[in-house]
Amino acid sequence: MSPKAATKSAPRKAARRKLPAPKAVKPVAARKAPRATLRAEPVYVEPTAIRPMATPQPQPIVEPARPERRLVLVFMGPPGVGKGTQAAKLASDLMLPHISTGDLFRDHLKRDTPLGQKAKGFMNSGQLVPDELVIELVMDRIAADDCRGGYILDGFPRTTPQADRLAQALAVRGERVSAVFYFDAPREVIVERISGRRTCRACGAVSHAVYAPTRTQGVCDVCGGESSQRPDDEPEKVRQRLTVYDSSTGPLVPYYQQRGLLREFDAAGAVEDIYQGLKMAVQALA
Ligand code: AMP
Repeated sequence: MSPKAATKSAPRKAARRKLPAPKAVKPVAARKAPRATLRAEPVYVEPTAIRPMATPQPQPIVEPARPERRLVLVFMGPPGVGKGTQAAKLASDLMLPHISTGDLFRDHLKRDTPLGQKAKGFMNSGQLVPDELVIELVMDRIAADDCRGGYILDGFPRTTPQADRLAQALAVRGERVSAVFYFDAPREVIVERISGRRTCRACGAVSHAVYAPTRTQGVCDVCGGESSQRPDDEPEKVRQRLTVYDSSTGPLVPYYQQRGLLREFDAAGAVEDIYQGLKMAVQALA
């Protein structure tokens, strides 16, 4: 081939060689389009995406940390030890809801609700109501509006699964139990207290046949309702409840001790003396 021919055919060859070029460009252009979209995305995404990265992780935790200072108090102790009386007094002074699981169940029993029907047999025989029923009841109750500033739990938790579930519910909000007030007294003191205890069927007010009798026997001083012995306060039921307490609730003493939350009170003394000690313990939490 002459150089001329070569020169003449060169552009054609080049053109032929270049022909595929536009085809090649198209995919590049096609590839560029999505890249541009990607590049454009951060313009919108970055400000929101970066904020949580730039702000240390505690940022979202700061919000729930405020209610962390609310008081979540647990009152624990064998049945009849007097923890309910102390819890009610403290709840009234602190203006916090007093959540007694025993009272909640008794209310369900009275209204003959499905939950009351399920719990009745366990309660009347001195047994604990199964964990899943109690936990559901308490989780619903502490989610109520009046618990936003804190609350006092009386008679819950009573088993390790209940304590775990409470800890879990609080942890979701970055919280934990503030303190566990543990009341104990010699068994003979407890049996004497329970066997003399009278409870109003209408309003739940508690009196004692010997130490704090109602003005008229069998009539509630507060509402005039019928004041009588609870079926589970009968002596053989009390013994059963104490046995159940030792095996099911006893393990919560080391559970809360290990977490540094347990404050012990000798509940054999006078109600007012115990209450003074309790108030000091609450003040020490602030
Ligand atoms: P209380 O008035 O606290 O002694 O409770 C009365 C009864 O209610 C108990 O004997 C149980 O049958 C039932 N109960 C109350 N709280 C709980 C709980 N946390 N777990 C299981 N059963 C409970």
